[in-house]
Amino acid sequence: MHGYDLLVVGSANADLVIGVDRRPAAGETVLGSDLVTHPGGKGANQAVAAARLGARTALLARVGDDAHGRLLGDSLRAAGVDTAGILTGGAPTGVALITVDPSGDNSIVVSPGANGKLAPEDVRASDSLLRASRVVSAQLEIPLETVEEVVRNLPSGTRFVLNPSPPRPLPAEVLAACDPLIVNEHEAQVITGGESAGTPEEWAAALLALGPRSVVVTLGSQGALVADAQSMTRVPSVKVEAVDTTGAGDAFTAALAWRLGTGSSLPDAAAYAARVGAAAVTRPGAQESYPTAEEVEAL
Ligand code: ATP
Repeated sequence: MHGYDLLVVGSANADLVIGVDRRPAAGETVLGSDLVTHPGGKGANQAVAAARLGARTALLARVGDDAHGRLLGDSLRAAGVDTAGILTGGAPTGVALITVDPSGDNSIVVSPGANGKLAPEDVRASDSLLRASRVVSAQLEIPLETVEEVVRNLPSGTRFVLNPSPPRPLPAEVLAACDPLIVNEHEAQVITGGESAGTPEEWAAALLALGPRSVVVTLGSQGALVADAQSMTRVPSVKVEAVDTTGAGDAFTAALAWRLGTGSSLPDAAAYAARVGAAAVTRPGAQESYPTAEEVEAL
């Protein structure tokens, strides 16, 4: 019996954002707007996106014993995420320091903090969460050995979805477990070690040759491509007025992972996820922009 549709294993960050007229050069001090603090991190974003759609969702993550950690716990619970898997301590909560200029260009410094302390033994200690979940999704803002431990401890019949962001070459054992591996074109390039840009179909073929059971290449406003050993299918995007694309990839991944767990085919799950991603770009922010199932229906 599965108590969770989706278990997300990943990062939780506080995003600290200051608007500036001009981003500072080395040695320079500039004045900025009031500080705005947003809950973020790819793991927390995915968990919130899935829970807002109605998925029974849990998050396995690590935060510091500090105000940012409590802020994240509160925002996750408010979205309906089960936070029993959120571990505390080892380092301060991960932080992204973001300055944004009036043209929307930003400079970002990430301190992984407690995300970097989410360890393989934390995965082993969370065995009951893994066993209770239909689908497990991960990203790479936590140590790669922790993701490897997830793959090793995956119960049979539990599906594994990976968005390898930020990208790095992946061990064969992790690649073989992905069903699907979800990448944008930049991530595809890093993972294949490819030098020049090819078509999405060429990226998908090169990725499949590395061993995942299926692959999804996301293409922003162009939608996505889904591929497995049998077929490749283009999933069109939904035409919307894009306001802010931050976190669209996380919303897409969460929606796709949830739908796969409810029995949808990969092309059907990706078509639904494209609608969720499109809805997310019509509003500013990441978690704040994520739609409910009713809002996706209305799109
Ligand atoms: P992120 O900026 O979160 O890292 P990403 O590069 O991982 O994003 P994208 O390909 O930008 O992922 O977006 C994921 C999905 O969201 C796309 O496959 C598409 O379905 C949808 N999407 C993104 N941008 C748009 C847009 N401008 N219009 C419609 N749909 C969009």
